[in-house]
Amino acid sequence: MRALPGESILGSFVNATDAELERLHLPWWYDATLWESLDYLGWTDPQAPERGYLVAETSFGLVGVVLRLPKNRPHGRRALCNLCLTQHQSQGALLMVARRAGRAGINHNTVGTYICGDLACSLYVRGLRRSFGGGAMPETITVEHRVARLHENLEDFLARVCVE
Ligand SMILES: [Zn+2]
Repeated sequence: MRALPGESILGSFVNATDAELERLHLPWWYDATLWESLDYLGWTDPQAPERGYLVAETSFGLVGVVLRLPKNRPHGRRALCNLCLTQHQSQGALLMVARRAGRAGINHNTVGTYICGDLACSLYVRGLRRSFGGGAMPETITVEHRVARLHENLEDFLARVCVE
């Protein structure tokens, strides 16, 4: 993804409440972000590990979403990230839930999907990080294809959050 200024990132959130916006900060490593290796910017709130943030460029614009991560994390179960299809040992992929944008969100309408718990799908698809005990599914497709698939899945997920 292209490098994004902090204001664009903080201004991209479609499903955040005023209270959430108030406590929203850029990730501490923002200045060292390796943009060219990322398909989305993802981080968790160091003060509230059950709160995650994901920002990506889509065909319908720059979209940021606030995610709720589970407080109690299941042990011992393998889980697959629905965005990058990396398989993880327990806790490596978590069910993350986004309030939908606009009126749907006010009515507590949410969209959930399993995502790499460290929000580092971009690194897994490029082989820059390996999952513990799980690993990529045996596939013969290229990194470019994996990246393209991640973009598609990301776009689908974010569209479901944005659609009223
Ligand atoms: Zn992933």
